[in-house]
Amino acid sequence: MDFTKDTVLITGASNGIGRGLALDYAKQGAKVVACDIDDQHGRQLIAEIRKNGGEGYYFHCDVSDPESIENLLKKIEESVGTMTILINNAGISEFKNVFELELEEWDEIINTNLRSAFLLSKEISRTWKEKNISGRIVNMASTRAFMSEPGSEGYAASKGGLVALTHALATSLSPYHIRVNSISPGWINTSPDYVPRDIDHEQHLSNRVGQVQDISKACFYLTDPENGFVNGENIIVDGGMTKKMIYEH
Ligand code: NAP
Repeated sequence: MDFTKDTVLITGASNGIGRGLALDYAKQGAKVVACDIDDQHGRQLIAEIRKNGGEGYYFHCDVSDPESIENLLKKIEESVGTMTILINNAGISEFKNVFELELEEWDEIINTNLRSAFLLSKEISRTWKEKNISGRIVNMASTRAFMSEPGSEGYAASKGGLVALTHALATSLSPYHIRVNSISPGWINTSPDYVPRDIDHEQHLSNRVGQVQDISKACFYLTDPENGFVNGENIIVDGGMTKKMIYEH
């Protein structure tokens, strides 16, 4: 796919899925703007993109902090230019017994995973509206928006919120030709240290655990200008896990 006309902002890009997305978009010719709180790995990522012949920039941003988001957007506009794609990927997953989850912990998860996507989408879309740019937004949700294990209230609520935010934004931004979609990954193995066991792979209908490239391909599909008829949608990329019925015998 050709993203040579695009500048993509990816939050939480220093590690895991975000890092993979940044490398894959750069390979497809996009100008990549990465942001994260992990500056060391963020700078390493940009060095790798440039070594491969791509164009990339890194900025520190704590997406749970509105002031940090404001500074990020100013710096990008001044030194890189206007983005055309936003991937709200940064997220934290804290699991804790519901009776022990403190208000501050709940707020931290919601502010990092959900409020950040609202703030970034709102401010970047404002620029797109003014400059008449047909921008595209992808929110990184989770299959945990639809299914749960105990102790996942904050995370599940943040991801369910992202799926709902996605169709609300798609509706509000439709007059400006801005498309908004989300992806709900299942288990994507981003750890270089964890080698999945046979049972990890076999429990999936696809007989394997997910890889970052599975998410990149879904992102490419959703942000390709050719796919303008896909809007307000959530795509589940989980090897079939949410379609598998489980009865305990
Ligand atoms: P990850 O490996 O932990 O990477 C997330 C990145 O975001 C890290 O670099 C992290 O920095 C950064 N980050 C955390 N808090 C931040 C903040 N306040 N501001 C800016 N950056 C921040 O996670 P991942 O597995 O790649 O997940 C990426 C996204 O996919 C998340 O939204 C996650 O919920 C979603 N997801 C992942 C899976 C999966 O199986 N991997 C499944 C479903 C959904 P630090 O490392 O310094 O904390």
